[in-house]
Amino acid sequence: MGFHCTGYAATDKTAPLAPFTFERRDPRPQDVVIDILYCGVCHSDLHQARNDWGNSVYPVLPGHEIVGRVSAVGASAGKFKVGDMVAVGCMVDSCLACDCCTRGEEQDCRKGMTPTYNGKDRVSGETTFGGYSKAIVVREEFVLRLPDGLDPAKAGPLLCAGITTWSPLKRWNVGKGTRLAVIGLGGLGHMGVKLAHGLGATVTVITTSESKRDDAIALGADAVLISKDKDAMRAARSSFDFILDTIPVAHDLAPYISLLDMDGSLVIVGAIDMMPGFHSIALIAGRKRVSGSNIGGIRQTQDLLDFCAEKGITADCEMIAMADINHAYERMERSDVKYRFVIDMATL
Ligand code: NAP
Ligand code: ZN
Repeated sequence: MGFHCTGYAATDKTAPLAPFTFERRDPRPQDVVIDILYCGVCHSDLHQARNDWGNSVYPVLPGHEIVGRVSAVGASAGKFKVGDMVAVGCMVDSCLACDCCTRGEEQDCRKGMTPTYNGKDRVSGETTFGGYSKAIVVREEFVLRLPDGLDPAKAGPLLCAGITTWSPLKRWNVGKGTRLAVIGLGGLGHMGVKLAHGLGATVTVITTSESKRDDAIALGADAVLISKDKDAMRAARSSFDFILDTIPVAHDLAPYISLLDMDGSLVIVGAIDMMPGFHSIALIAGRKRVSGSNIGGIRQTQDLLDFCAEKGITADCEMIAMADINHAYERMERSDVKYRFVIDMATL
């Protein structure tokens, strides 16, 4: 049972993404069926298509920054009606009963949340397929309302890049007076800059790309620090309360920890990898902290969408056709993204 759907998937870690036909389930009672209009392209999509994390189950059909319109609802689904504009992020299910889920931290569900793609459906056991496709079926608890006034073509990246940066900003009470730095001006980084600026923080972009200096300022940064410039890095020691690290590969943390002031925190949201070691005095002197953060819960994601609608914040998107996805991946690997690719699903 189910219905035919088309999308783009990778069949192994060296294969480019290619057209793929599969079945979506018919809606269960609490499900929402969504016609996908746009899907953002996250660096995680590339990591999983290439099996960088060693857990990919092929075919991998990525995409977890989904915006679309409700086309059908299950018999007991009451949150949405046909025609509503909605969004889906990185999760499509969790137990909804454990202490994490009931606190609204479904991303860290004790039984494991179900990722939107390359996950395992809790009922059927089948591999989940993501947003690089025409339609998706998701239980309503994991579907977000797209507020009026948010451009659907630019809102998708809020569902991953947005919430992944927003959640730590809220957890660490970033606001007026916070001296904050974002490392890496890509999809996550540019959302981090916009959101931190929107919250009133003083924002510095730490980048490897001198060419992104003007963009950083235009996005809301107050200053730019080129990480390859040793003198500038030395001059910036002990000058930040909070650093959001979005670098997508393993890297030495020591140069960045030294930028923290006393009691400062560096939060890793980028690399999911073995990280090189560093001397503990880097944390002991100045009581510094290194933490991590995993996307964000559903309630907090809705709060983010509402905040963005109110403040007029969306991603800076470069719209691509579905068939351009492999080229977009190549550019992403070269840090040549300004600042999020979004697939126009009408091109599929
Ligand atoms: P992206 O758009 O490719 O941006 C990453 C940026 O990091 C690049 O634009 C570049 O910025 C910088 N960078 C790249 N390689 C670097 C290197 N070798 N050394 C230093 N800086 C480097 O990627 P994204 O979509 O923002 O994703 C970033 C990472 O977050 C990915 O690994 C993704 O899997 C992960 N992620 C984690 C979560 C979570 O829940 N924690 C959620 C989503 C994504 P500059 O040119 O400015 O240097
Ligand atoms: Zn993502």
